[in-house]
Amino acid sequence: MYDNFRYQGLRAKLIEKLKKKGISDDNVLRVMNVIPRHMFFDKAFHDKFAYEDIAFPIGEGQTISQPYTVAFQTSLLEVKKRDKILEIGTGCGYQTAVLCELEARVFTIERQRLLFQQSDRLLRAMGYRAKTFFGDGFKGKEVFAPFDGIIVTCGAPFVPEALKYQLKINGRMVIPVGGSDAQQMKLIVRLDKDNFSENDYGEFSFVPMLKDKSK
Ligand code: SAH
Repeated sequence: MYDNFRYQGLRAKLIEKLKKKGISDDNVLRVMNVIPRHMFFDKAFHDKFAYEDIAFPIGEGQTISQPYTVAFQTSLLEVKKRDKILEIGTGCGYQTAVLCELEARVFTIERQRLLFQQSDRLLRAMGYRAKTFFGDGFKGKEVFAPFDGIIVTCGAPFVPEALKYQLKINGRMVIPVGGSDAQQMKLIVRLDKDNFSENDYGEFSFVPMLKDKSK
């Protein structure tokens, strides 16, 4: 119902492109090859844009992340089966679907009500069982912590303390940090109760992580 040979072909081409750009995580490439990314787009844009390696508007001034960025962040997260993963910025839900296909237990937070409602509905219809929340990603989700991984899919002005302390020991957080033009992709690993390592993985460009407006 969702897919056809044409889309499968376009997807296979996209996966080849991602490989050429340096994505080498076979699990990530495998799941991105099966998820019908066009379902996360408005119908009018299915054919032209769903399988291009570009970010694209999804309404409410937000974008679906570029496939390369999704692949890059997910690879850095090193998701294992059954891992508990927190995503900040559900948006249209594509990254959420990638995490679900990797068989993680996924918790995802979105601050725009309309996007929260739409992605929640779509993910369910597609059979993905992520726990979706409408709320403020800066606070994380204390009641479900600690997490094996946290992935932030909007540009954060700084690394939120609350998120760091919701990581398990050895837990990984992938987060773009910086101003509104560009952000540095950071991998933060919780070494023990109070110590974290921090490494940079190059410049990316995300829509900004914004303050709470759920109340
Ligand atoms: N994961 C998405 C990316 C969506 S863009 C994908 O797969 O394409 C980033 C999203 O982060 C937007 O939908 C935006 O509304 C949301 N966002 C911004 N600030 C937030 C915050 N403080 N808490 C939760 N979500 C936030």
